[in-house]
Amino acid sequence: MNQSILILPKLSSVEAKADTLQGAITLLNSLHAYDEALIYADRMLALATTSESKNTQCLALGDQVEINFLRGERQRARAVLPDAIRVCDAANKNFYSLLLNTLAGIDLIDSGNYLQGKGAAITLLQDFSKLNQSSDYGTQLEEALARAYLHTGNLEQAERYGLQAYQKAKAGNAIQLMEKTAETMASIKRAQGQYLNSLEYFETALVLKNRVLDDLLHKNLAFQRVKFDTQDKANQLNLLEQKNKILAVERELEKKNNQNLLLLIALVLVIVFVLGIWLMRALQQKNQFRQFSQTDGLTQAANRMHFISFANEAFKMRTGSVSIILFDMDLFKNINDTHGHATGDWVLKVVSETVKTHLRKVDLFGRLGGEEFGICMPDSSQASALQLAERCRMAIAMIDTEPSGHIFSLSASFGVATVDGNGLSNFDETLEAADKALYRSKAEGRNCVNVFRQAS
Ligand code: GH3
Ligand code: MG
Ligand code: MG
Repeated sequence: MNQSILILPKLSSVEAKADTLQGAITLLNSLHAYDEALIYADRMLALATTSESKNTQCLALGDQVEINFLRGERQRARAVLPDAIRVCDAANKNFYSLLLNTLAGIDLIDSGNYLQGKGAAITLLQDFSKLNQSSDYGTQLEEALARAYLHTGNLEQAERYGLQAYQKAKAGNAIQLMEKTAETMASIKRAQGQYLNSLEYFETALVLKNRVLDDLLHKNLAFQRVKFDTQDKANQLNLLEQKNKILAVERELEKKNNQNLLLLIALVLVIVFVLGIWLMRALQQKNQFRQFSQTDGLTQAANRMHFISFANEAFKMRTGSVSIILFDMDLFKNINDTHGHATGDWVLKVVSETVKTHLRKVDLFGRLGGEEFGICMPDSSQASALQLAERCRMAIAMIDTEPSGHIFSLSASFGVATVDGNGLSNFDETLEAADKALYRSKAEGRNCVNVFRQAS
């Protein structure tokens, strides 16, 4: 029964569900488990909501009537009876209507309305024989009719119906009904003064009662065990379901946490990225500003201020000799005057580019003013400074001026001074010495290199 009830949700047709429920109700009734039976009858009625499910409605209402009579709730049974009969009639369930009317007839007799009950019972028994359908209900009705006759003093009729009922119950092996009819027969026989017979029926009834009780006890024990097992299984299922729900919630939570973590990581990465770019731009800008502030706009050489500060630092940090080369364009004024200031500018740019190509990475080239330039050479001997000055002088003299639009000759005069054993000790002295050497080059006719010597 429990198995079939469990598959109920899987059944699609109302009829199939009703059949399953009806099976359960019959079984529960036989176990006297009326409360449970009533629950299933209510469920069955709840299924029958459409006009096509009148059969199911008839069955469910009929069950409600029967169960309420069985559990001794006469008032409730009577309250449902008219509806049940009406619905079964409308559904053309004549046999069910007959059964319900039978229950009503038995109820009349059970509640002491013997005359009325008798009349109803006789008519109903005729209906049973017309339908030619035997049923325990017919037997029950005969038993009730026998009691009605007994109570109204017609012992002959009482015995007739009582015996009929007893024999039918016996033939059908309906123990409970046999017990009841034997009990009725015992009463009839006692009323007839046949005490010995009465005693026999009474003893039979007693034996049957014991069998009924035994049977009921066994069935009930089995039922309770199955009920307990089912409940236990249901509890375990509930527990599992709860655990699954908790697990699902936990999984969802973990998923959300992971998503949040990913979002957080993404956010941090975006912030780091943006900050990185901002920092890079700021550094680039700072570098650019520093470059601007240290560079001469026309020649892209270091400006005077930067050149002096760099050279000062190089002298302070020096571990060996440091050389300074100064050079000044020869007769530059003439170029300006002859070919224009723009040509003069062009010359300054080209001279700077040319000189730069001859420098080491550590050397610094600067424009000290007008057409005068300087080269600071850390870790450089006087000889290598002289060599570089000579190379630069020659390179300047070889510059092709045609791209300026004018052809003219170029030259510069150089002065070299090295702080190393010449009595020079700092940048200022060395710069002055280089300037003196440059002056000497001018004096010697220009386009030449002079090295500062202490003796000179
Ligand atoms: P010396 O050989 O004796 O050095 O003769 P010089 O003509 O080169 O010297 P001077 O000092 O008489 O003239 C330098 C000229 O350089 C004067 C000035 O107009 C010019 N000058 C200075 N700076 C610039 C500049 O940025 N662009 C141009 N085109 N000319 C400049
Ligand atoms: Mg000059
Ligand atoms: Mg000059």
